[in-house]
Amino acid sequence: MLLEEIKRDYGNLKIYINGEIKESKTDTWGKAFNPTKDEVIANVPFSTRDEVREAIQSANEAFEKWKEIPITQRIQYLFAIKNKLEEYSETIARMITQNHGKTIIEARGDMRRSIENVEAAISVAYTLYKGEHLDLVSSEVDETVVREPLGVFGIITPFNFPVMVPFWFLPYAIVLGNTVVIKPSEITPVPIEMIIRIFEEVKLPKGVVNVVHGAKDVVDEMFSNKLIQGVTFVGSTKVGKYIYENSAKYGKKAIVQAGAKNFVVVMPDADFNKTIPSIVSAFFGNAGQRCLAAANLVVVGDVYDEVKRKFIEASKQLKLGYGLDDTVDMGPVVTNDAKKRILGYIDKGIKEGAKLVLDGRNVRIQEYPNGYFIGPTIFNEVTPEMIIAKEEIFGPVASIIHAKSLDEAIDMINKSNYGNAASIFTSSGYYARKFRMEVNAGNIGINVGVAAPMAFFPFGGRKESFFGVLHGQIDSVEFFTDKKVVITRW
Ligand code: NAD
Repeated sequence: MLLEEIKRDYGNLKIYINGEIKESKTDTWGKAFNPTKDEVIANVPFSTRDEVREAIQSANEAFEKWKEIPITQRIQYLFAIKNKLEEYSETIARMITQNHGKTIIEARGDMRRSIENVEAAISVAYTLYKGEHLDLVSSEVDETVVREPLGVFGIITPFNFPVMVPFWFLPYAIVLGNTVVIKPSEITPVPIEMIIRIFEEVKLPKGVVNVVHGAKDVVDEMFSNKLIQGVTFVGSTKVGKYIYENSAKYGKKAIVQAGAKNFVVVMPDADFNKTIPSIVSAFFGNAGQRCLAAANLVVVGDVYDEVKRKFIEASKQLKLGYGLDDTVDMGPVVTNDAKKRILGYIDKGIKEGAKLVLDGRNVRIQEYPNGYFIGPTIFNEVTPEMIIAKEEIFGPVASIIHAKSLDEAIDMINKSNYGNAASIFTSSGYYARKFRMEVNAGNIGINVGVAAPMAFFPFGGRKESFFGVLHGQIDSVEFFTDKKVVITRW
């Protein structure tokens, strides 16, 4: 069944500053597309420097009052936001599908994870936010640690999870007493329109959350602005390095979650009936545009041909189309540029000598002839040195690599520049434990293709997939507060 679009055209997207939803005064506008139809669905204002400064200023003024509001009251706003997210979940999910291209089921997952983070942030307020105290550290001397919010934070997010990634940080930041300026991806900014409406409907005090649109210029203003205490960034490694360097240069705290090239290892003793559907979804879910998407399939031992054959057969069954059709398994990639980049990688793979055993380059979806579709694409006989095995493609392209042993597979993973996630499929506790202990990646899946941590766990990442000390989700408590130590003698 094809679900209805919320709107065909969202017009000029608005910015949200000091509790006011308003039109930007910028004369630089981008366009947000529906990638299934190659249609413009919104105009995206690239906020002026003055608007960004105004947003930061308003967040700073709001901070002075917001931090004084008792935690029990701040939590009530989060309950209200959670309820509104539940109420509008389907509407926002459809907006995500329209602007991003992922299927409605995936978009609903985006919403569920967002809500889960609000719930986790509520729990944090009553638990991890508390300080510590020890009487008599010395004669008549007691020592106490209290946690305090810091002020204004910038939240910079990628295109692939337009709502969930802002919610990896936003609810924690505000429940702990901080205020924020969000800069969504300029590629998928449409769903944030509804999120802004939610803040208005729950009467969140003015300036606690502000939203500006744009790209590098907004980020640069965040760095040069003294009122910004820190930034959270999720996106590519190239931009992530820029963010981390500038955080050091301008003295800001930073969480930087970056790019990935994730491995899935299949051992000969894996239960293939369960493994194959799981890896198909890990490689091609979200059209391969997940930071936890599988990219390299390493098959160990003499089951290589069997796994390859079953993987190709199952991948061929995926139905492509408009994600609003709830029978569709895979939507288009996000932009025409993304499509060109991915096709470029497929050409590179062919030139490098990998064997293209499933070619998704020429798929045509009859109803959507202009959509940015690429079908599941699989390379065989890939070696770890090939570019397609090393660089992040961020699309529906899988590379199958053979390894003689688990040691060889682990060695390949550990030589990768990235360390976001790695999974193993096996029925051996020994292999699973060895994998968990020896693989250098932040999120490990054992018989799980997409190792996505729940909100109440940190979101890992290592090597070029992560820069900083603290991770997103629950680690935010450490990030969005600072500790003050009070030593008392009476
Ligand atoms: P991107 O790096 O292009 O953009 C991310 C954000 O940075 C956007 O808001 C964008 O406007 C901004 N930006 C872009 N260029 C900039 C510049 N020169 N200076 C300052 N800011 C700039 O990433 P994307 O294409 O939107 O997202 C895909 C990437 O995100 C992939 O690499 C994926 O692996 C990664 N990702 C990582 C995680 C994780 O948790 N590690 C999660 C999701 C996505």
